[in-house]
Amino acid sequence: MKNISFVNYKTEYKQLREEVLSELDRVLTNGDLILRGDVEKFEKDFAEYVGTKYAIGVNSCTDALIFALKALGVKARDEVITVSHTFWASIEAIIHCGATPVLVDVGEDYLLDVEKLENAITPRTKAILPVHLNGRVCDMDKIMELAKKYNLRVVEDAAQAIGATYNGKMAGSFGDAGCFSFYPAKILGCYGDGGIITTNSPFMKRMAWLYRAHGQGIKSKDYPIIYCGWTSRLHNVQAAILNLKMKYLDGWVKRRREIAKLYNEGLSKISQVKIPPQSDNVRQDAYQNYVIRVEKRDELHEYLKENGIETLIKDPVPNHLQPAVTYFYGVTNLPMSEQLCEEVISLPMYPQLTEEEINYIIKTIENFYAK
Ligand SMILES: *Cc1c(COP(=O)(O)O)cnc(C)c1O
Repeated sequence: MKNISFVNYKTEYKQLREEVLSELDRVLTNGDLILRGDVEKFEKDFAEYVGTKYAIGVNSCTDALIFALKALGVKARDEVITVSHTFWASIEAIIHCGATPVLVDVGEDYLLDVEKLENAITPRTKAILPVHLNGRVCDMDKIMELAKKYNLRVVEDAAQAIGATYNGKMAGSFGDAGCFSFYPAKILGCYGDGGIITTNSPFMKRMAWLYRAHGQGIKSKDYPIIYCGWTSRLHNVQAAILNLKMKYLDGWVKRRREIAKLYNEGLSKISQVKIPPQSDNVRQDAYQNYVIRVEKRDELHEYLKENGIETLIKDPVPNHLQPAVTYFYGVTNLPMSEQLCEEVISLPMYPQLTEEEINYIIKTIENFYAK
């Protein structure tokens, strides 16, 4: 029997240890802790990677989403359209702006169903918040088309989608802003919390600088306090770690795609398993998560655990049926989101996963359904 964890921070650290320690030593020796050159370098390189003019480092993707919405003027009594089938932070960010989250259903690909989008638009709608879940970009052509037609702002939740493309363009480069997370389990993770906003708007950049550092600019001594902000900077030490990890990013995304391919090949033979949507000419997915839909999901989860494989059932209760939503906004009915919450399970997915481990996971799932 093997022991395969759902995330594997330790193996990655083993691989990067010398580089990490030497970077930590450099940064700490220089006393470069808050908004120093490492943050600036990372912001510049990250913007270039995504293909936007600017990137502004903050302390999490959740704050990135809140700041982006606020900078676009989202406020009380506005509506922002997003999905229920996402990590709760996408919805939370809307509520923190005082706005009302309007949750629409997802399609078979786990992403915002653009056929349902136009119906959800009202005179109060201010923005759309598409979530590129599992590292697959939403139908951005259609979303941008509707945004233009109804004069809506677009904030992309790209927390799971660094490296994912749509018609050759990177996630996070379509809307007014893209928001990314460097939570350790994300494709590009730091050693704590971190996030970033990508944008082409100098106004968005300026506002994010103010929000993240108490209403003062990046060089605080040069600016008066002109706004009430927060403490939400990307730490310089984390930025140094992210700078060194950026070198590996393309290789890691490539490896995730290879692993997905192996899973696809092995699992598509099992009739009780539905593999995730495939990359094609339009989309190259980044596979933050490898999520399958299965019969007897909870039993499979237990069986895999008994066989040394850790998997994740993310949201047994969909977000739109959580008390924090129903109490304030009432009950909505989103059949596909509800069905997915009963069927989905995430398999281990990280670049350090070996071929032997992947085959063992596939074999164990086969054994479960052969019983
Ligand atoms: C991880 C995640 C977030 C939140 O990121 P943090 O950096 O932890 O705040 C938001 N949205 C999605 C889809 C995520 O996966």
